[in-house]
Amino acid sequence: MPKSAPVPEDLNPHHIARNQFDEAVPFVEDLKGWKGTSQWLFEPERVVKVTLPVVMDNGEVQIFRGYRVLHNTARGPGKGGIRFYPTVDEDEVKALASWMTWKCAVADIPFGGAKGGVECDTTKLSVDEKRRITRRFVTALGETIGPYTDIPAPDMYTDAETMAWIYDTYAMLHPNAENLGVVTGKPVDLGGIPGRSTATAQGSVFVAEHLLALGAVPGLSQIDGAVVSVQGFGNAGRHASFILRDMGARVVAVSDSKGGVFSRKGLDLEAVEAHKKQTGSVVGTPGTRKIGVKGTLEVPCDILIPAALENQITLGNADKVNAKLVVEAANGPTTPGADRILAAKGIVLAPDILANAGGVVVSYFEWVQNLEHEQWEETVVRDRLRTKMYRATENVLATYRRITERFPEYQERWRKAMPGAKALRKPDMRVAAMATAVGRCKVALDRRGVWP
Ligand code: NAD
Repeated sequence: MPKSAPVPEDLNPHHIARNQFDEAVPFVEDLKGWKGTSQWLFEPERVVKVTLPVVMDNGEVQIFRGYRVLHNTARGPGKGGIRFYPTVDEDEVKALASWMTWKCAVADIPFGGAKGGVECDTTKLSVDEKRRITRRFVTALGETIGPYTDIPAPDMYTDAETMAWIYDTYAMLHPNAENLGVVTGKPVDLGGIPGRSTATAQGSVFVAEHLLALGAVPGLSQIDGAVVSVQGFGNAGRHASFILRDMGARVVAVSDSKGGVFSRKGLDLEAVEAHKKQTGSVVGTPGTRKIGVKGTLEVPCDILIPAALENQITLGNADKVNAKLVVEAANGPTTPGADRILAAKGIVLAPDILANAGGVVVSYFEWVQNLEHEQWEETVVRDRLRTKMYRATENVLATYRRITERFPEYQERWRKAMPGAKALRKPDMRVAAMATAVGRCKVALDRRGVWP
């Protein structure tokens, strides 16, 4: 087979975030004073870069690079995960931090956006090395994080244990103070909240369920009986697979960084999980057929859940996506070019800032619980999460329907406001979610005014 030509596409996440922002701005309700505000809203408030010397188990000192970006605090303190991944860099963290701002606004929780990361490969680190990196990172961040300023959480290759180390390090540096609220996603027996580990996946499922109930996905009305494919078998992907299977869906494919597995009659997820625990990968689970790392994205299905990393559905493979609904459990899995292709194919996309907001919503509950010295019940968490996710879905869908119906009006308004600007693209759900979020942040900025 001839090799297909490389597809020219800008995959820089920060550029993609800018593109998404620019596409949404024309649909923000109030454009008054927009020129200055838009720059203010897009640029990060603070970028911290740190160098971390860490003693490895073999006694050698190794240098790691860490980042923490505070994107925008118009609506509240910064909130966002910390990821440990080999390709972490400043532009990725800046993009992820801005998506957190929009996500908190879409979910209507009183936080701004932030994100952090350390460039490292946890698969090659011992637990002790990972703990030393975490402690050194928190120390280097110093006063830039705090319970009322910027509150980290888990992300790729960090988990409740990592959050416990973050809390402990911060508490050592701030003795005689209440510090539990400095980080969320902690273990439940250390100020954590029941339901946090499943929150992102559960939130994605609530969004999918509600979109179907509201008639937003042609040809698909319920999860029961739906065919599902999931990329990623970590926190978000694994839990989403189990939750959907328990609701009656048939999960036919899942994957991790080493490859994917497929079974037409539906995977035995317990067997897949046991195999991954034993061998480190889902690949090779008995009774399954092996597919490629990106194979899950091309499996014919009703619901596709990208739950791994950025830039997975691109100009190179978007035409092969064969789903009715794409639910972005991961951050930034679909490029702007791919968005257009999916829209042209009539595929509905629940964008990341809506679809994976469940994690930050329950993080917010955990933070409130810590500040109030409470311990919430799991049923309370789940009910409140459902309420938040349903409302966010309704709000985004309402925006989508409004801006779609009144598209010519918005076009005309934009032409007048920005003479010579490019013609607007017909909005999709991402544009609607972004316009909802950016509009809410602009309202907050307008109410606060520019200091001094
Ligand atoms: P995780 O570390 O638990 O799992 C990541 C998964 O992705 C693993 O199954 C891994 O094998 C797979 N993966 C890694 N590299 C891959 C590659 N090159 N190709 C295919 N698969 C690959 O991480 P997570 O917490 O589940 O996060 C996954 C995504 O969800 C990320 O985009 C993250 O930002 C997003 N997210 C997570 C949360 C949360 O609460 N954990 C919240 C919001 C968004």
